[in-house]
Amino acid sequence: MNEADSQKLAAGLAKLGWEEAAKPDQADLAVVNTCVVRQKAEDRASSYLGHLRRLKETRDKGLQIAVMGCMVGPRTDDLRARFPYVDVWARPQSFEVVLRHILPESDLGGEFWPETFPEPNGPAAFVPVIHGCNKFCTYCIVPYRRGRERSRTIEEIAREVVSLCTKGVREVTLLGQTVEAYGKDLPADDSGRRPDLADLFGAIHETPGLNRIRFLTSYPRDMTESIIRSVAGLPKVCEHFNIPLQSGDNDVLAQMRRGYTIEEYVEWVHRIRDIVPDASMSTDVIVGFCGEAEEQFENTLRVLEDLRFDKVHVAAYSPRPGTIAWRHMEDTVPQAEKMRRLHAVEALQERIATELNAAFLDTTQEVLVEGQKEAEDGDTVYTGRNRANKLVHFRADGGHAPVAVGDLVPVRISKTTPWSLQGEAAAFAVVAA
Ligand code: SF4
Repeated sequence: MNEADSQKLAAGLAKLGWEEAAKPDQADLAVVNTCVVRQKAEDRASSYLGHLRRLKETRDKGLQIAVMGCMVGPRTDDLRARFPYVDVWARPQSFEVVLRHILPESDLGGEFWPETFPEPNGPAAFVPVIHGCNKFCTYCIVPYRRGRERSRTIEEIAREVVSLCTKGVREVTLLGQTVEAYGKDLPADDSGRRPDLADLFGAIHETPGLNRIRFLTSYPRDMTESIIRSVAGLPKVCEHFNIPLQSGDNDVLAQMRRGYTIEEYVEWVHRIRDIVPDASMSTDVIVGFCGEAEEQFENTLRVLEDLRFDKVHVAAYSPRPGTIAWRHMEDTVPQAEKMRRLHAVEALQERIATELNAAFLDTTQEVLVEGQKEAEDGDTVYTGRNRANKLVHFRADGGHAPVAVGDLVPVRISKTTPWSLQGEAAAFAVVAA
């Protein structure tokens, strides 16, 4: 989401005549778009600000520093005291605050924002479709910083997708903190029906140049049968679901206020696998949440073992000031124990991903090429993702059309690891969407 926000701000700056600097020390303005979902992310932002301060002090020409994103809450007194060298503070997506600071006379009204679309930096692009979150999980800072759910209209999103595809984008990922909530806040039609994510898939599906549609992140309770069926039925929508589990224990889920039981979660996963049998799935897990006992953590391991996700994003709990957990719960699990649990999830997942990825051996995968680099032996190695969102590295030693970033290439898989697939381009012709 932050990457998409940064590109939107960059597009606004470009419209006002600014250009991207090659390096921070050549810039007149540095915007740090921050994430504070975990302590580690916040520490990185603080440390980068320290680097910019030193840069600002040594520069003859002034450097203006703006901080945007989730580090910035409704009150900035503390931040201003901690970082007095920062020129402007802007809450998430408060692009205008930054633009008005540097160019106070600019006219940002009328068509300025509706017609400001990001410049893609590759064949895959993120498109935010719903901002904010209404869920208030006890550990999470997002609703306090990004506000309540607000969907963009289908028309505006469709225009953005067209704009991206005319600039070479072939895959879009529709983004929301809870992407299946898309449309719930939009006006209903005469029959009382509101648009949903399935309608949005349908509306952008035939965009010229577009080959793939992804969506991220799912909130289990918002997932509907109609959305799952549209993933199964629309060929450009990739069969990949990221559905955060967070914990495999009902008491911990209740403490987190996730709004579902583990039995309900498992049922949703089975329903998806029934309707979309080749679906790949990833999930998010937090270990060491307030009061999490060893047996509760083992329940999480058991669910991960049973459901066998393609990928697990695991994080050790860190209290976020201002959240319900920070205000009312005790952070009881020692850091060393959190890390032991985190490593246990990683070890389990490494074994599961090794087994799941091995099934791709000797198959041919459609890969959207996103990058290339020279290997030690001088050969070019291309990198991209298959429809299941697996990272694929491959070589193209001839016998087919030249490979370029943005191509969809069939790749014969000859080696697998827990983290990627490797192979060789099969004979192919470049396909127009
Ligand atoms: S649903 Fe996601 S973004 Fe919303 S509060 Fe819960 S964890 Fe945070």
